Amino acid sequence: MHKKHRNIRKLLLILVVITVAIAATVIIVARPDLQLRIIDTIARGIFEIRMTECHLREDELVSLSPEDIKENSEIIFNDSLLLVNAEYLLSDNYIPEIVEYKNTGVLMNTCITDAYARLSHDISQYVGDRLFVRSSYRTKEEQAALHQSEGELALMPGASEHQTGLALDVYVSRYAGYGFIKSKAGLYVNLYAHKYGFIIRYPRGKSNITGMVFEPWHIRYVGLPHSEIMYTNEWCLEEYITRLEIGKFYAVNEYIISRQKGENLLIPSSLTDLVISPDNSGAYIITGKKVR
Ligand SMILES: [Zn+2]
Repeated sequence: MHKKHRNIRKLLLILVVITVAIAATVIIVARPDLQLRIIDTIARGIFEIRMTECHLREDELVSLSPEDIKENSEIIFNDSLLLVNAEYLLSDNYIPEIVEYKNTGVLMNTCITDAYARLSHDISQYVGDRLFVRSSYRTKEEQAALHQSEGELALMPGASEHQTGLALDVYVSRYAGYGFIKSKAGLYVNLYAHKYGFIIRYPRGKSNITGMVFEPWHIRYVGLPHSEIMYTNEWCLEEYITRLEIGKFYAVNEYIISRQKGENLLIPSSLTDLVISPDNSGAYIITGKKVR
């Protein structure tokens, strides 16, 4: 009798477990945003990228002024790490380096075209969908007009990243805006854009810092390895820049990163692929690869 009861209880337990598993699967399949959150959490745990502070000797550093850097053909000087928001506004006379992307009429910052080409190529290849750009570069005047017509929905001129040409609002056919993450391409962008140097600039749960609600369609170029650091540590751009202490050097995989202020910047002489960008707070962020 007892044994029979125990068997029934066991059977009931198995049934409950199976029902819960089926219900969970149905919910996850029907909710791409949940899928995204689950895969995201696992991926961040596995691929966490740590920044470790490193110390460089004086004889390993070269002192250069921003003007010297701009003239040095071996160093890329761009705006990739410019922080733009309602607090850090773009200056009134700010003019980015803009180029038309592959005869599409889409204007973007020169420094993002290669990364965007790779991202859209991989989406066609792996997802079989075509990525489109709904909004890219906007002039100050265009942003002002948008702000006037849309009010709160559009940022005031100077506060929008679209004026830098570093941000793109992307979509695929039938899936735009919030619906974008319901598409495979949207999931791909939200999960892997960091591998191409892009971040989801206004991520979920950070609106108290960014001032913007989750925008799964707005991607922003920051370059490698910054996008990967921000993704795996769940930092938005504001948090990341604050974490880079002025004057310190950080080792991240094969990269060295340093955020510096002052008339001259101290550049590690052994680095290759140097990229230097102002951060819009009066400092510059130096990125380079260690020579192996
Ligand atoms: Zn946007």
